Amino acid sequence: MLSEPTTLSGLKRRTKNGSWLDAAVLYWRTRVYEGDLGCDWSEADKVCWNCGHCRSLQKCHIIPRSIGGEDEPSNIVALCAQCHDLSPDVSDESEIWRWIKSNRAGRSGMYNTYWGEVALEESGVDPASVSLAELKKHLRLVGEHVGQLTGRIRIKPSSVAWALRSSVKEGAARA
Ligand SMILES: [Zn+2]
Repeated sequence: MLSEPTTLSGLKRRTKNGSWLDAAVLYWRTRVYEGDLGCDWSEADKVCWNCGHCRSLQKCHIIPRSIGGEDEPSNIVALCAQCHDLSPDVSDESEIWRWIKSNRAGRSGMYNTYWGEVALEESGVDPASVSLAELKKHLRLVGEHVGQLTGRIRIKPSSVAWALRSSVKEGAARA
């Protein structure tokens, strides 16, 4: 049985690419229950651990480097740019897991649905009342946002929530 590397340099000796991502997955997969995460451990190298969207992943330090967090697998989780912008930067290492678990609570648990579910919740709209044609029309009126920290371009859930509400309003006015 392979012993588990606890440092990045330890992993580099044993794997081909020695990536921080492989090291973090290897470290956490036996320590954190995947049912509380946005992804299964088997796919944690391609799916955001918080939102469960298949996106390119960023190295997120659990305790930020600026307040003494180390660049070790034990201090790293993999998040998409959007979740990285929102994740807590505090000295309490348990907070990241509490944050992820609370974000997952009550969600479908399916991949690539989280941000849509957040937008739908925020809109207060009954999904059955949404016409797809109206929604598409209103989504064309929504701008993209460049993340402050990451520079990644995303459509915010609050913008999608507006499109959902507007499409229901206009659909009803037309009926
Ligand atoms: Zn994410």
